[in-house]
Amino acid sequence: MLFFKRIFVVGVLKNFMKPQALYIHIPFCSHKCLFCSFVIAIAQTHRIEDYLNRLEKEAKSHQGARLESVYIGGGTPSMLSFEQLKRLMTIIRTQYILSDDCELTMEANPEGIDEVKAAVIKSLGINRISLGVQSLDDRYLKFLGRKHDAARAVAAYNILRQTGFENINLDLMYAFPSQTREELKRDVRAIASLRSEHLSLYTLTIEPNSRFHASAMKLDDEETIAEGYLDVISILREYGIHQYEISNFSKKGFQSRHNQNYWLGGRYIGLGMGAHGFVGHRRYWNTSKLQDYLNQEEVIEGFEDLSEETLIMERVLFGLRMNEGIELQILPSSKKGIVEGFLKEGFLVLEGPRLKATNKGRLVLDELSARLI
Ligand code: SF4
Repeated sequence: MLFFKRIFVVGVLKNFMKPQALYIHIPFCSHKCLFCSFVIAIAQTHRIEDYLNRLEKEAKSHQGARLESVYIGGGTPSMLSFEQLKRLMTIIRTQYILSDDCELTMEANPEGIDEVKAAVIKSLGINRISLGVQSLDDRYLKFLGRKHDAARAVAAYNILRQTGFENINLDLMYAFPSQTREELKRDVRAIASLRSEHLSLYTLTIEPNSRFHASAMKLDDEETIAEGYLDVISILREYGIHQYEISNFSKKGFQSRHNQNYWLGGRYIGLGMGAHGFVGHRRYWNTSKLQDYLNQEEVIEGFEDLSEETLIMERVLFGLRMNEGIELQILPSSKKGIVEGFLKEGFLVLEGPRLKATNKGRLVLDELSARLI
């Protein structure tokens, strides 16, 4: 009754072979938050100039790419001075061709945003800010080892607005040990009341290289986390912020172009220490040691050439994270039985030609994905 035209799929994938997005990793941070497992460099700001020199060299290896989105993440990119940010943007604009409406996102931490810094970032053409708020509950900000409190986060947000930023993402974290359902609801309402265009949701996880890892902390059970997740979705909906991906919410028309490229299987260049890129059939990753990134001739530490089958399965798995789901026909026929089982059990639903995860399915999407692979 259902399925499957592979020829169509190959055609779809070919459209995505050229990189149309750029991720640049700026690893510098002033301290390490207790949950952090990102690739960062603490107390190394004296090496920012060397880092930018190395970035410029690396950027040349993909010279001329036409980009629809640029994402400057970290670390804390907003730590860079005006001159350093200007240099970074010059590298980007010199090496690549940016579309007229290119989405240019920069991550920032609340404590690093004042009127001057916000104006500098705006003057360089950055048109989207991702602000690492995490929570507006001081108790949990302290628990996470953040350097800002709730008042500082709100002040930073207001400064960005007054400076003219019209596209702001806020990060929201939840599932802190002992966080009650009421506390979470209060936090979500406080963040949603700021009326940002976009919101990214994270659950607290304890990663091996985080400081929390040593503390043997016990996290909430899956049922409590799932309950909180459904609360978040419904509260955000009240504020006109709708889910479009399992962890991402936005006002209409403000979905992250950069992230959508990842989820749709699009190609991207990754520059900087620990950055990942995906060009053609090759996914590569850079060294995550600052010393090696600065000094080695070759900064790519490893790569994997993905088969057509793997690319299709990734497209399926990422696609099911999105509300719009996937075209049913991209699924390989060998998965037909499993998918029909998921449909019967209510984890997936078929809407016209599109296969989507239900709320029930989203709560166990990792497990569904594992069975699909
Ligand atoms: S969470 Fe962000 S600000 Fe904190 S240490 Fe990690 S990268 Fe730096």
